[in-house]
Amino acid sequence: MAVPYPSSSSSRSHPFLSHVYHTSFHHHHHHNHPSLVLFWCLVFSLLSPLALSSSSSSSSSSSDSSSSSSSHISLGIGETEGTKHDLHQAILRDEAVARLHELGQVSDAATHLERTFMSPASIRAIPLIRGWMEDAGLSTWVDYMGNVHGRVEPKNGSSQALLIGSHMDTVIDAGKYDGSLGIISAISALKVLKIDGRLGELKRPVEVIAFSDEEGVRFQSTFLGSAALAGIMPVSRLEVTDKSGISVQDALKENSIDITDENLMQLKYDPASVWGYVEVHIEQGPVLEWVGYPLGVVKGIAGQTRLKVTVKGSQGHAGTVPMSMRQDPMTGAAELIVLLESVCKNPKDYLSCNVQCNEDTVESLANSLVCTVGEISTWPSASNVIPGQVRQRNYSLLCIYVFSLLVL
Ligand SMILES: [Zn+2]
Repeated sequence: MAVPYPSSSSSRSHPFLSHVYHTSFHHHHHHNHPSLVLFWCLVFSLLSPLALSSSSSSSSSSSDSSSSSSSHISLGIGETEGTKHDLHQAILRDEAVARLHELGQVSDAATHLERTFMSPASIRAIPLIRGWMEDAGLSTWVDYMGNVHGRVEPKNGSSQALLIGSHMDTVIDAGKYDGSLGIISAISALKVLKIDGRLGELKRPVEVIAFSDEEGVRFQSTFLGSAALAGIMPVSRLEVTDKSGISVQDALKENSIDITDENLMQLKYDPASVWGYVEVHIEQGPVLEWVGYPLGVVKGIAGQTRLKVTVKGSQGHAGTVPMSMRQDPMTGAAELIVLLESVCKNPKDYLSCNVQCNEDTVESLANSLVCTVGEISTWPSASNVIPGQVRQRNYSLLCIYVFSLLVL
């Protein structure tokens, strides 16, 4: 990606920038999960054209299985009087929302939602999600990275599967829709097909996956779950440790999941076995509500760069060092932050293109670049001391590029 840098034409004097040293330059790119904004109704509407056979003649023959299946669910509605529409609403809306609330209560903390990779709450969530998958007619299993799968095979048809999923882990103090919506909506959509007796009509396998890790809260390493299935997780990642020194491998073993280098490799899905991937996700921003749209289809994906920046200056006494003799990294950091905001508000004023960059790139960045300084700390952090150094964390640039939609 193009790193925003003041172009020569608009370079300005920032004396404090000369004091900036990148002492630790953590620089990793990763992609956020591919979808930001969709709702369960979209999954349901997608399932019909994508995964179901177009034959409509079987709808009458399916009424028997429909009534027999519906006797297995207790939704508080009349099992015989309820119309199909009511039944669908009861599952897609009422039951799905109830499950979102229920899963939202499965937390490691009493006061907020927190469910990190292989934590006690995550372990409790597994049988809950599995039970819902089985209720929808899916065969379930938990893989070596703790991902929960529920799959239905077609009677005939393609072997290429439609995967639908999202993450079951959360950030700290998470919203209950984040991740859970994509899991529960997929299960609910398939449950409706089961009740209608249409699971047998699928023209390809459909697999719901609750990914064990997307957020990377515990191991500071995102996408442990999905990276393993994509076959892009290095074996060395199993050795990464959390704050208490427990490795990914140990965390899995504590829960009777015997991950080894070999079975990590075996988790990889052959791309030829996957027909497509769909993820429903709550929008984690204000845009849809602001423009008044109930849902949107994602056409881009966010690439992220995180930097840790240390601004060094000269430590000194706040009462005795004259202003003219100061090299105060606090004010330098403040200027840097303001500059960063300016760069990201008006990237066109700062970007210079190299070979890999053209006008479209600049235009795309101008519409989508976001930057955040999320954390700042000073040393020695005393009110009467000019700091010696200031460290900014999560100085991140989020560039949204246009990639293809929803492909695993
Ligand atoms: Zn999410």
